Parts: sequence; C-alpha cells; structure tokens
Amino acid sequence: MPKQGWEEIRRIVALAGVAVALGWLFGQIFLALAILFALLFIWYFRNLIRLQRWLQKGKKYVPPLAGGLWGEVFNGIYRLQQRSRARNKRIVKLLNRFRESTAALPDGVVVLDQSGDIEWWNESAEKLLGLRYPQDVGQRLTNLIRNPDFVRYFGQPNPTERVEFESPRKEGMILTVRRVPYGNKQELVLIRDITLIRRVEDMRRDFVANISHELRTPLTVMRGFLENLAHGEVEEEERKRSLELMLQQATRMQVLVEDLMMLSRLENQETKVASEVVPVPQLLTTLREEVELLNREKQHRIHWDIDDTLYLRGNSKELDSAFMNLLVNAINYTPAGGEIHVRWYGREDGSACFEVQDNGIGIAPQHVARLTERFYRVDVARSRESGGSGLGLAIVKHILNRHNGRLEVESQVNRGTTFACVFPPEQVTHAETDDDLQSATGP
Ligand code: ADP
Repeated sequence: MPKQGWEEIRRIVALAGVAVALGWLFGQIFLALAILFALLFIWYFRNLIRLQRWLQKGKKYVPPLAGGLWGEVFNGIYRLQQRSRARNKRIVKLLNRFRESTAALPDGVVVLDQSGDIEWWNESAEKLLGLRYPQDVGQRLTNLIRNPDFVRYFGQPNPTERVEFESPRKEGMILTVRRVPYGNKQELVLIRDITLIRRVEDMRRDFVANISHELRTPLTVMRGFLENLAHGEVEEEERKRSLELMLQQATRMQVLVEDLMMLSRLENQETKVASEVVPVPQLLTTLREEVELLNREKQHRIHWDIDDTLYLRGNSKELDSAFMNLLVNAINYTPAGGEIHVRWYGREDGSACFEVQDNGIGIAPQHVARLTERFYRVDVARSRESGGSGLGLAIVKHILNRHNGRLEVESQVNRGTTFACVFPPEQVTHAETDDDLQSATGP
C-alpha cells in the first residue's frame, strides 16, 4: 500500500480512538463510532461528488482542494491530465507538420486501409486524381478511376513497377502511379505528374528523327551522284551538273550543322545574355551589305528605315544572327521583284522594335503558333528549295528570350508577312555622343 494509504488508515484509527474516548466518557462508545463513520462516509461521498463534478467540467479547471488521500487522488488525476494534454499538443503539432509537408509535396499520396479503401490523401492527390473530401473517404480507388490500365494494376496482388495513365482530371496530363505496401496490409499510393518529362522525351525523339531525316536526304542524293561518277561513263556536261548539285547538298548540310550548333550553344548558355551595348544601326549597316548580295538573284526592293540613335543591351553576334534569319526568310519567301521594308524604331512604351515586312507568300493562321518549333515548315519542299534548315525561327526565338524580347508575327496568305522582334525598355539604350552616332551610321 502506498504511503498515503497508511496515513489515511492512521488518521481514521486516530479519529476512531478519539471517538472511543469521547464515547467512553459519555457511556456511548457505539454511538460515538457510528457518528464518526457516518461523518466519514459523508465526507468521502462529498469528495466523490466533487471529483465527478470536476471531471465533468473539463480539464481546464484546477482540481478542488481536499486533504488527505482525496487530495492525492485529485492531484494525481490532474497530473495525468496535464501530461496527456502535453502529449496531445505534441501529437497535434507533429500531425500539422506532417500535413504541411505532405501538402507541399508535388506528388500525390493516397493511403489505403487493409481492405483497400481510401483512408486519407494529400492536396496534390486531389489535384491529380480529382478526389473529393469527404465523399471519397472509404471508397475504392478503382471505383473512382476507371482507366483500364489503372484498374488492372490495382488488381495485382503484389504490385510491381508502376502504371502510366491519363489523369481523369485533365486531358493530356500523364500520371504515373506506384503502390507501396506498408504497416499491416496498408498501402501508400504515390502519384506523379510526368506530362513534362514525356513531352521532353517526345521532343528529343522527334528531334533525333528530324536530324536523321534532314541529313539522310542530302546524303542519299550525294551518294547517288558519287556512285555515278565512280562507276559510270559520265559526260562532261553531266559531271559538271552533278558536282554543282553535290555542292548544293553539301551547303545544305553545312547550314543545318551550323544552325544546330548555334541552337546548342544558345541552349547551353544558361545565364542571360551579356549586357554589352550593341550599336544596332551599325550592325544593320553591315547586314545590309550581306542582304544586298543575297538579293541579287530576286531583285526585291528593300527599304531601310533605321533610327540611328537606338541601341540595345545584349550580344551583338546573337542579334546579328536573329535579324539575318528574318531578312533571309523575307527574301526567300517572297517571289522575285517583291517589296521588303526593314524598320528599326522605338515604340511609345519605350520598347524597341526590329521589323521585317515582306509582300511574299504569307503564312496561313494555323501555322503561325508553330513557326518557332524546330524543323517546323509550312511548305517542306519550298523551304528545302530555299536552302532553309527549318531551325531559323527557333534560333530567333531563343535569342529573343535571352534578350527578354518577344517575336510578333502578322501574316496573310499571298499578301505578305511581318516579323517583329520587340525588346523591352530595360534592354534599350541610346547613342550618347556624336561619335557614337557617326560610328553607328558609318562614313
Ligand atoms: P526555314 O529554314 O525553313 O526557313 P525557319 O524556321 O526560318 O525555317 O522558318 C520556318 C517556316 O516558316 C519556313 O519553312 C516557312 O514556311 C515559314 N516562313 C518563315 N518566314 C517566312 C516569311 N517571311 N514568309 C512566309 N513564310 C515564312
């Protein structure tokens, strides 16, 4: 028996002794003892009621004051309550932290109970699978997601690997799901959105296929000619024509490889472009000479309207390449004798714009959004004929991105096309001195 128990007995025995002494004095020992035990009983009963009331009132209140064993009982229960309250607080804190971290997870998590019913899920699972609280608690996942691959995967007793399927929430969203058994026959279902990874893989596959295709065509042509030259009797005229065509194909491959290298360089440079001041008017003066050479065959009328004071922060080689691509396209996709306007000017909002407008074959609206995709061509035969690699506008877009700029396209079939490179005000600067101006406009 604990110490307090003995004390209580001692106290009762002492009280009984006093009662016996008093009873003996008045010749009423039994009555005195009966009164003592009745009083004790009332006291015990009263404390019992106080305890019951206190427990009913809740944990917030301090226990009633009581002496002896009852005091110990009250305090003991109070201490227990305090301890359990502290433990509860810790558990709630832990649970909150767990909830917060699972909510921050980009992956969906669903917990299934022993019978495979949904017990709990995080926010990402809600977004990816479209689960709804509380209706879906206790449901089977396969009743909510009917995709045959998904249902088959959940039919396996021992799940291996994972399954891929389209999200019921959003068309085109590809999800991968993995079951992980844990605890007592419970399961964790992990869901991940792999749309982007699939898209990148598709792009890489398409890219390799495209390059192979681009290289195979000129190689096949060259091989044919070379075989002819090596084995057949070839007349001088034919030999000359073959060599010319081979040179054309070799040039095509060279353009392709150079464009590929340019793209790869742009993609590998993660940092934004260096912010040297580029005297764009000067750069356009040099480009103009090259363009006139390219224009000798088609004899377009090319008008240049250049703001000599407008400079840009960026990389001159990249800007040169972007502007040249647009100019070459305008020459190539405009029938001979066309009209081309080249403009370099500042807009009212402080941005700067390089614009190339032609009156050529134009582009149908359904193609416009895809023009900057690698190897995208409106008319494959025409692009090949003009020696294009199909990478030009992809390069332009990359370069503009690196200069915080954007590409605007306006086009009408058989009317012509306007490509505009727009640079934001923070990228624009102005020639400060007359020397700047002179070097920009040239002698
Ligand atoms: P390409 O090397 O084939 O010219 P680009 O990426 O430069 O590749 O252009 C993609 C496609 O956009 C071209 O194949 C062509 O169909 C179309 N295009 C580009 N510029 C023009 C233009 N000025 N007028 C009409 N079509 C154009």
